[in-house]
Amino acid sequence: MRGEDVDMKLARMGDGAEIFYTLQGEGVSVGMPAVFVRVSLCNLHCVWCDTDHTWNFVGTPWVHEKDAQPGYQKHCKEDAIIEMGVAEIAAEVRKYGCRHVVLTGGEPLLQEEGLLELITELRKDGGDWFFEMETNGTRLPGESLMAALGQFNVSPKLANSGVSQTLREKPEVIRGLVASGKAWFKFVVEKEADIAEVMGLVKKGGILMDRVILMPEGRNVAEIDKVAPWLAERCRDLGVRMSDRLHVRLWGDRRGV
Ligand code: SF4
Repeated sequence: MRGEDVDMKLARMGDGAEIFYTLQGEGVSVGMPAVFVRVSLCNLHCVWCDTDHTWNFVGTPWVHEKDAQPGYQKHCKEDAIIEMGVAEIAAEVRKYGCRHVVLTGGEPLLQEEGLLELITELRKDGGDWFFEMETNGTRLPGESLMAALGQFNVSPKLANSGVSQTLREKPEVIRGLVASGKAWFKFVVEKEADIAEVMGLVKKGGILMDRVILMPEGRNVAEIDKVAPWLAERCRDLGVRMSDRLHVRLWGDRRGV
């Protein structure tokens, strides 16, 4: 470990990294102003992933729904990733003057050491920093990161992701996150059959129903609105939270919002 000099691979946006100030668009903190730090690379490859620039690289065998769209090209890895030291990333975060930070990806837990260093570096400023991490629920963070984070937004993947069950289902990890008391579990739902699958995962992972959030799949408002009305009724019947995708409604399928 090299202290503040740990290098991280972040998603590139323009000349810099994908670090931006916006409203949290999903999950239990929806509407909260926060600085987002998007890391690159993921250990899963979901067919509907809305951050495919973090993993759908030229020369990889992964499949994404967009692969078949006219004009879509897999991303050049060298152009899609920017390497930055932790001190440099912290300086970018500080520019926004907001102490609520969302660590997202890709899969942030592939770069656990760097993120722990980033949190440590930012906390040197003092004050009431709060860190959320978005994760796919396949890797359990170590004790130090577990203690440093205020909230996990866990999004275990269903069969609708196109990822094999062996890769995406890790009940022991889910149980560990449940035990932290800091985790909320958000499931992306496309169709009625997904809900039975969610309930199976809830049971296997010992997730409490008051920590379950169902969210409609969709990268634009039309897609979200195909699912949202009936999902709202199902959430009400089941007594679980529903999340919209606020950022998509406000700004569409764009990066940096
Ligand atoms: S786990 Fe998340 S970031 Fe990774 S491919 Fe799936 S949706 Fe995308």
